[in-house]
Amino acid sequence: MLGAVSSDSSAGASAATPAKANQQAPGFYRYKVGEYQITAVTDGVSTYPIPDGFVTNASKAEISAALAAAYLDPEQLSVPYTPIVVNTGAHLAVIDTGTGEGNFATSKGAAGQFQRNLRAAGFTPEAVDVVIISHFHGDHVNGLLTADGKLAFPNATVMVPEKEWAFWMDDGEMSRAPKGRMEGLFKNNRRVFDALNRKVTPYAWEKDVLPGIKAVGTPGHTPGHTSYVISSGKDQVFVQSDVTNLPALFARNPGWHPAFDQDGVMAEATRRRVYDMVAAERMLIQGFHYPFPGAAYLEKTSSGYREIPRPWMPVV
Ligand SMILES: [Zn+2]
Repeated sequence: MLGAVSSDSSAGASAATPAKANQQAPGFYRYKVGEYQITAVTDGVSTYPIPDGFVTNASKAEISAALAAAYLDPEQLSVPYTPIVVNTGAHLAVIDTGTGEGNFATSKGAAGQFQRNLRAAGFTPEAVDVVIISHFHGDHVNGLLTADGKLAFPNATVMVPEKEWAFWMDDGEMSRAPKGRMEGLFKNNRRVFDALNRKVTPYAWEKDVLPGIKAVGTPGHTPGHTSYVISSGKDQVFVQSDVTNLPALFARNPGWHPAFDQDGVMAEATRRRVYDMVAAERMLIQGFHYPFPGAAYLEKTSSGYREIPRPWMPVV
């Protein structure tokens, strides 16, 4: 009886109540694509106030309104990072690597979780034989290294888009880079790839990186930005990398140009082309910056696209 609850009984309950935990269960989620198995493994989520100039052609008020329309905090961004593991039966491939193990301490556990969640999912870094990188931003390449700067995947061939490698590792491009963010990206790529002794295998667009994993050029975000079509039997998933960042902002407003799209006009054209295709074909996408686990469908709306998360399933 509600009316019978007394202050005495609530005091008794609190004495036996355990402390509130502040961590989730390890974040990984598996699904099948034909004979292949995908495991989405979260690196965590970074939360920060909307930076000035975050979208070059939308105001902070417009960004806040779009966040509120999607039932998100209108004052700040929460950006997830979700690399995936693809078990093809012949290969254990990782696509993108997260913000780096060193970021776990820096972010107080909010991100930099990929290595620990990978292990929680039952994979050792030593068992990964291929790492495929979509583009050379820190949240995708920094996880190539451990917190102490060693190879995070000691037995893996690291495959990189040939156009991305050509751009970022070119000393002339670096010398012409604007100070600040772009210069920092060039330096970070040297830090990461020099630790690998620049031992990478460049790959071309429109070809299979591994059997059943085709590289698709989706430039604009960076010059060599790459997505993938993973196919097995009749099943497919389009791994979109950063064709959009947060779908609540950039799928719903595909004409917005985030400052981190290096060529905003090209990135918009890529976004519309890819999303028109996946919406028309009702194709599953896997989005690196989508809410975890990042598997969704897209429908076209009058002003853009709306993402429809695929429901959680208890068995693979
Ligand atoms: Zn990214």
